[in-house]
Amino acid sequence: MSNRAAVMTELNKIVIEERPEPDPRPMEAVVRIEAVGVCGSDTAYYKVGRIGDYVVEGPIILGHEVSGQVVQVGSDVTNVAVGDRVAVEPGTPCRNCRECMAGRYHLCPDLVFLATPPYDGALIEKMTIDARNLYPIPDEMTYEEGALLEPLSVGIWGCKRAGLEAGDDVLVTGAGPVGLLAAASARALGAGSVTVTDLSDFRLDLARGMGFETERSDAPEKKTFDVLLECSGAPGVLGQAMGRLRPAGRAAMIGMSKEKAIGLPLAQLNVNELTISLVNRYNHTWPLAIELVGSGRIDVAPLVTHHFPLAESADALTLGGRVTDSVKAVVHPQL
Ligand SMILES: [Zn+2]
Ligand SMILES: [Zn+2]
Repeated sequence: MSNRAAVMTELNKIVIEERPEPDPRPMEAVVRIEAVGVCGSDTAYYKVGRIGDYVVEGPIILGHEVSGQVVQVGSDVTNVAVGDRVAVEPGTPCRNCRECMAGRYHLCPDLVFLATPPYDGALIEKMTIDARNLYPIPDEMTYEEGALLEPLSVGIWGCKRAGLEAGDDVLVTGAGPVGLLAAASARALGAGSVTVTDLSDFRLDLARGMGFETERSDAPEKKTFDVLLECSGAPGVLGQAMGRLRPAGRAAMIGMSKEKAIGLPLAQLNVNELTISLVNRYNHTWPLAIELVGSGRIDVAPLVTHHFPLAESADALTLGGRVTDSVKAVVHPQL
């Protein structure tokens, strides 16, 4: 028996360590991890050790886009069984506070989220997690697809926050994994048209391959939109792109801005009664994400450009900075 983990011991350093065999509490299950998607947040913790107020202060295991197989369940678990292939929702709420009781569990102040300091993530062979965070996936769904239900959930929730309606013309700024998955969500949820902008020709080609209209962000066209999904987090993009919304347009700010404060053309937003919704991860999106991917209405596979065994987790975490023609790295902890 082994339980190897890729542990970030200091900035830019991963050490493979042996961890104890998991021992689930009554409501927990043990998942043998099969696929972990690398997210921009993992890379930020690895390279700079912080995102906003979340600071890495000791050794941490990264990775929160996860799928695997249930290999053991605690005595009170009823929703999954040994052998189930599952996708993992990475946030465990307290289930008792005001936000949890109002159904806004993703805003729980005591949310325990994989790979958000001080909590460990999933770059490990086996981990325990509250079984209520596990969603069985269909036999035909690959583990890579199962892991990508997490970033897809961000896209789905962004569309919901923006009040997306059938027929809406949608502008998605930023063609990274979340932007492409937000675009895919918008189309699956009935958007009339979806236009994706970016500066990378590689990513724009990928977006076109997925069937979206594209624009280079430095050469904007004239088309106007009902909904904006801002996924770049780049300075100035939200304000600029909101200028292309029609009256009563809705924007969702999905990309985390690196700036503390941003400017917006308020007078213009007022006149057109535009709405901005802010987005913090997602709320109960796995059932819909599984349905959309399982039925083939969303294809997440084109996003996975690179695969790594656990021992090469450091290469997976730095892929974006080294290889421009890349989108999503997936680590396979059993390899
Ligand atoms: Zn993520
Ligand atoms: Zn709570």
